[in-house]
Amino acid sequence: MKADFHLHTTASDGKLTPAELVKLSASRGLDIIAITDHDTVGGIIPALTAAQEFPGLLVIPGIEISTEISQGEVHILGHFINYRSPDLNQFLEKMGKSRQERARKMVAKLRKLDVSIDFNDVLKFASGPSIGRPHIAQAMLEQGYISSLREAFDKYIGNGCPAYVERYKITPAEAIKLILEVGGLPVLAHPANINELESLILQLKEAGLIGIEVYYADYSSEIKEWLAKLARKNGLIMSGGSDYHGIDKKSKIEPGCVAIPDDVIAQLLSYGKST
Ligand code: AMP
Ligand code: FE
Ligand code: FE
Ligand code: ZN
Repeated sequence: MKADFHLHTTASDGKLTPAELVKLSASRGLDIIAITDHDTVGGIIPALTAAQEFPGLLVIPGIEISTEISQGEVHILGHFINYRSPDLNQFLEKMGKSRQERARKMVAKLRKLDVSIDFNDVLKFASGPSIGRPHIAQAMLEQGYISSLREAFDKYIGNGCPAYVERYKITPAEAIKLILEVGGLPVLAHPANINELESLILQLKEAGLIGIEVYYADYSSEIKEWLAKLARKNGLIMSGGSDYHGIDKKSKIEPGCVAIPDDVIAQLLSYGKST
């Protein structure tokens, strides 16, 4: 079984449209993919529609919700969500508006720093409902203000950098609650660099956390082993995926590039069937 439970499309900051991602995943021999765009479900219906052409490929509706704690950003994945829920969509609309306003403010700040990009330049890269910093970074790169996407974050738009602007954010506990309310499986995403991870896990378990991302493309086998132990110790389901965006030409990350054990995939699927 080949699966990838963490993928982005043009609905947020991925390079491929949902249909293109589905096609690529099928051609790479994947059996299961989850669409997990940042703060939007806009890619799900197009992906499900495109998947009708590939009966061997299961597409799981998902999301990645951006949240914040005092130490910084925490992302919560939600697999198997009811993406039609009016409550969920109302919340996501609020997130989307805040992202738009914040992107405009970031462009204004950049212009004061002599990075003279236009909001329309950013929109060229943001075709979906969830506009984010990677779209701004791509506009900066295209116009030669930086030489890598990373440089944009390091110098200008990373948290605490001169052109950074806050946006509306909820807490991880609130995101977990929302995901549970819409029948989803809440998973703590790419947890390895969170400070005081164990105490956060205990806190989030109280809030209803069920899973943790262990098989993450960027992690060494030592990190995966450590996270797998944490998962077992805390009774959390494991998840995994590539976090494929496709926008960084230097990145070797592709859909399905991280191996996820069959028993881990089976446990995730059986949770999906139960909700
Ligand atoms: P936003 O959701 O608009 O706050 O942007 C956050 C997104 O930017 C993350 O989900 C990543 O996709 C991307 N990102 C964050 N930090 C970096 C970085 N240092 N280099 C490249 N991309 C980054
Ligand atoms: Fe992203
Ligand atoms: Fe993330
Ligand atoms: Zn992601």
